[in-house]
Amino acid sequence: VASVKDVSKTFGARKALNGVSVEVKAGEMVALIGPSGSGKSTLLRSITGLQSIDPGEGTVSVFGEVVQKNGRVTGRARAARQKLGMIFQQFNLVGRLSLFANVMLGALGRIPGWKGVMGLWPAADKDKAMAALHRVGVSDYAAQRANTLSGGQQQRGAIARAIVQGAQAILADEPVASLDPVSARKVMELLVELNKRDGLGVIVTLHQVDYAIRYCERVVALQAGKVVYDGPSTGLDTKRLIEIYGPEFEDAF
Ligand code: ATP
Ligand code: MG
Repeated sequence: VASVKDVSKTFGARKALNGVSVEVKAGEMVALIGPSGSGKSTLLRSITGLQSIDPGEGTVSVFGEVVQKNGRVTGRARAARQKLGMIFQQFNLVGRLSLFANVMLGALGRIPGWKGVMGLWPAADKDKAMAALHRVGVSDYAAQRANTLSGGQQQRGAIARAIVQGAQAILADEPVASLDPVSARKVMELLVELNKRDGLGVIVTLHQVDYAIRYCERVVALQAGKVVYDGPSTGLDTKRLIEIYGPEFEDAF
């Protein structure tokens, strides 16, 4: 999915990423954990090419294409980004559009215009969008404006959009941080299903370490812009995490 090699990212005097290397293989589901400010979102943005990295030796590749080199986002980043479904804490649906139109956006690659109103979207795309809404369990809400849906419904809609987009991997930044426990569980289970059944790679940042351990086989832990653990989630108990993060672990998460 993504290969991050020796990547640093500086904001002013602060190193948000400090020599990070992570390799995520196709079909893997990886949790990215770390206290607030440890660099999780910055790492995801570096992979999607939404943010340039520091000039130097660092490189980022997505599905074999170099998307960051010499501190620059390359021309290949846009195409590579098409293969990545992005999911955020705040759902990122277009609030004034229906849930259905938001999912169509995944198929069309742009905001559906007047043709949608006239019912002129390609039938195959419409079928795909409806099937995706069914799959994530929110087809009953297809006609509803996105900003009137619950957080859990919106997040499942965002996953449906990624499916319709034909994403080969999902990058999710705190997808469950704004959700109640039941909705959060459903969203995590959906991500696991997309990973296990469809073989999508998943990189998901999580504040809750217990979610990372329960749903992801591999955990990458960041602290102050450095990888302090990269390995199986089994055996990551509180004691081990205190070894990794120091005694402040329990306050920091
Ligand atoms: P959280 O759990 O709170 O989301 P995070 O692990 O995602 O935290 P990042 O958002 O990656 O952390 O931020 C890492 C560091 O980089 C922080 O110190 C943050 O203040 C800084 N930072 C991130 N983006 C910017 C920016 N655009 N301008 C300046 N500083 C930034
Ligand atoms: Mg973040």
